[in-house]
Amino acid sequence: MIDNNAAVLLIYTGGTIGMIENPETGALHSFDFSHLKQYVPELKRFHFKIDTIQFDPPIDSSDMDLEGWSKLVRIIQKSYESYDGFVILHGTDTMAYSASALSFMLKNLNKPVVLTGSQLPIGKIRTDGKENLITALEIAVDKDPDGKAIVPEVCVFFQTYLMRGNRTTKVNVENFRAFNSYNYPILAKAGLRIRYDRNLINRASELPTEFYSRFDPNVMILKIFPGMSIEIVRSIFGNPNLKGVVLETFGAGNFPDRKDFLEIIRAAVKRNIIIVNVTQCSSGSVEMNRYRSGLILANTGILSGHDMTTEAAVTKMMFLLGQKLSVEEVKSRMTQSIIGELTIDNP
Ligand code: ASP
Repeated sequence: MIDNNAAVLLIYTGGTIGMIENPETGALHSFDFSHLKQYVPELKRFHFKIDTIQFDPPIDSSDMDLEGWSKLVRIIQKSYESYDGFVILHGTDTMAYSASALSFMLKNLNKPVVLTGSQLPIGKIRTDGKENLITALEIAVDKDPDGKAIVPEVCVFFQTYLMRGNRTTKVNVENFRAFNSYNYPILAKAGLRIRYDRNLINRASELPTEFYSRFDPNVMILKIFPGMSIEIVRSIFGNPNLKGVVLETFGAGNFPDRKDFLEIIRAAVKRNIIIVNVTQCSSGSVEMNRYRSGLILANTGILSGHDMTTEAAVTKMMFLLGQKLSVEEVKSRMTQSIIGELTIDNP
């Protein structure tokens, strides 16, 4: 039920949705918010209140960083009590990283934070931006009869699908269906009406919402491949600032049976570098005891990332390391769900 007395804060960070073509080069670049609003006169037809705020200057999401995430959290924290929901317009390239990061930074949410964007700028006739923006706004103010938000979590709405933010991955550069959530079902599908699957959606927290903004960037994503150079791997793990590695392995978490590689990993674990195993496959979970090639890796002391996306694993690691927890505490939280980012099949 749309609450017509509600208020939404629409935060425009940049991205294709608000971009226009440079007449000389033809390349798309960010433009300011008034431009975007001019192309969506429908916004005036909503009865609920929509306030807007924009990054100055708006950014291509390739430029999103830790400061950008903190800025988003500061904006939400400052206005949390004044709004019923938040919609963040964001470039698609790093939206899955931002959605994952925000899901950890906003603890005990009881209001929706919906990220969306588009593949075609809003000024183009065939744009997908209008639909995405309008439905995201509706989701942000949709409430149950008891007045509680239906989706009190950080989510991504894109091309009729509402997905848990920390389960999304960008999967297509051309198609309007730019995101997928392979390891968790979609939270809602927008057709004639928006059909929510309430069993899949986090419940609103009764606890006070907490806002976090610290990260530790001393981490690395390492995707393994046949024939990788031991020297290069050694130099990555030899970096004195390194605190964590998201290791993207084959299939169910498998790794080459090479003593020299395994020795580097074992030594890194001993130095308290946190190494989390996630699969290179889009769908499915790490199960290191399924093959010998997984077991040899498990024996080095690295952790299972279960079915986490790389985006969720790396933002979670930076987030936890930024909270000044003990190594053991970070390790334990990396392997458990904080806010629905992983499922443990065989606990
Ligand atoms: N490069 C753009 C961005 O991520 C792409 C997009 O918005 O779709 O900001």
